[in-house]
Amino acid sequence: MEILSGLNLKEFEALTEKLGASKFRARQIHNWIYLKSVKEIDEMTDLSVKFREQLKEVAKVTDTKIKVKQTSSDGTIKYLLEYPDGECVETVLMRFDNRANLTACVSSQVGCAVNCSFCATGKRGFIRNLNYKEIIEQVLTIQRDTGLKVTNIVFMGQGEPLLNLENVLKAMKIFNEDFQIGARRLTVSTSGIIPQINKLAQLDMQSTLALSLHASNHETRAKLMQIENKYPMDELHKALKNYTDKTGRRITIEYLLIKDLNDTAQSAKELAQYLKDIKCNINLIPYNPTEKNDYQRPSNNSIMKFKYLMEHSGKKVTVRLERGADIDAACGQLRGKIK
Ligand code: SAH
Ligand code: SF4
Repeated sequence: MEILSGLNLKEFEALTEKLGASKFRARQIHNWIYLKSVKEIDEMTDLSVKFREQLKEVAKVTDTKIKVKQTSSDGTIKYLLEYPDGECVETVLMRFDNRANLTACVSSQVGCAVNCSFCATGKRGFIRNLNYKEIIEQVLTIQRDTGLKVTNIVFMGQGEPLLNLENVLKAMKIFNEDFQIGARRLTVSTSGIIPQINKLAQLDMQSTLALSLHASNHETRAKLMQIENKYPMDELHKALKNYTDKTGRRITIEYLLIKDLNDTAQSAKELAQYLKDIKCNINLIPYNPTEKNDYQRPSNNSIMKFKYLMEHSGKKVTVRLERGADIDAACGQLRGKIK
């Protein structure tokens, strides 16, 4: 059985040719899959009944199942998806009331090998990479289930996207060309895999790179993220500088705020110094509680104070709104399990 989700136009054409139909049918099926996100071949109403029957014999829309769907009081929806081999990942849909944007937060791997101390995904260890079709299935599931079209995609679910770069880049190409989502509306977030950041610089990626920095000095970062020992901040600085110089694009620096650990005035000062010559915006992420660690979220007052200090350095600073915490859908809370 051919799975229609994930095929590109050329592959649809090969399929329709095999069935003795014209290329035009391929374009129709393509639009039904990516733009109208049908659940069944029978919903492709501009294809003849006879052709639909033929198509149903050799193909189906998807082989991915929604195992659990949870809706948060703020409207965020979290799906636990199950792939044919039984592995599960989450994908999250966020709506922001005052905007028409619908942002999908997608996973790139089952589990994650990077194992940051504050993240529930890391606690699971690494299970496997998702292939590009499994990545785009997440967005298609959202579109099929809600009947809405996703406008923005962030690779901030389970996994380290730059350790599965080939599939992530293929998925991004399909998001861009087949889903017709502009490259600027795609964001890849990384814990800082230096060789791959250099590769993205070389490829002149048109999408946004987000870097999970989370600390202002080596000692603190090493405590939070063991990857700091492999790819330390001073090396990272060179890679970021090279990236912004080469691409001309502004990166997003993600900075987790943990009470008394990295939210002090001294941290803000160090961070400003570190980012002085890097073209970037700063996104502060107040820590979301997960099991098995004693980190705490700072008070709103400390968060605002830190923001104020960083703004003084001349950067644009935003605080990430917490979405879906009541259903464990917020950053760092995804672990591929039913509660
Ligand atoms: N692996 C990639 C992308 C997925 S995580 C990365 O680490 O960048 C998406 C963001 O959520 C990252 O910035 C990550 O550090 C952050 N995050 C992880 N655990 C968190 C937690 N408990 N509270 C808030 N943010 C968290
Ligand atoms: Fe992996 Fe990102 Fe979680 Fe770190 S924060 S363990 S890199 S998913």
